[in-house]
Amino acid sequence: MRTLLLDNSFYPVQIISWQKAILLLFTGRAEVVDHYEDDLNIQTVNANFPRPKILRLFNRHHTNQFVKFSRQNVFLRDNYTCQYCGERHSYQELTFDHVIPQCRGGKTSWTNIVTCCRLCNGQKGSKLPSEFKYKLKSEPRIPDWHPSMCLKLKQGDPEEWFNWFIRPEVDKLSA
Ligand SMILES: [Zn+2]
Repeated sequence: MRTLLLDNSFYPVQIISWQKAILLLFTGRAEVVDHYEDDLNIQTVNANFPRPKILRLFNRHHTNQFVKFSRQNVFLRDNYTCQYCGERHSYQELTFDHVIPQCRGGKTSWTNIVTCCRLCNGQKGSKLPSEFKYKLKSEPRIPDWHPSMCLKLKQGDPEEWFNWFIRPEVDKLSA
């Protein structure tokens, strides 16, 4: 049984186990929006309460930690566009590039990884941005959107959860 986690503006953030949901509740970081209506209540030493179906975080800042750093999310952030030549490509044709190359101390992180086409990646090699013919199209940063792409509904999840996913932002991301 799972719990849908929303941020403080009711935006879906993640689907978590009910055990994790309880932890968020007990540590005062979230409140219950809705709970499961069955008999499988949670028993503690001095309480008995229904399992949370939807939780809302009090703090918006919690959401960024859930933006998973992954190849796909980097491509989404950069709109599948090579950050050097500016060409848009399909997932298969893209790679990611360390802006400051690893051999020169660059980290594998949101702020040092950009979407890059194979051609540019081959040409850039271990050059610094200042040594490469193209300027970066945009400064790489931690995405400010919510990782709705990471939310995968499973069979058996409550049907009303789908209501939380019909958002223009989600449409834009999956385009
Ligand atoms: Zn390119």
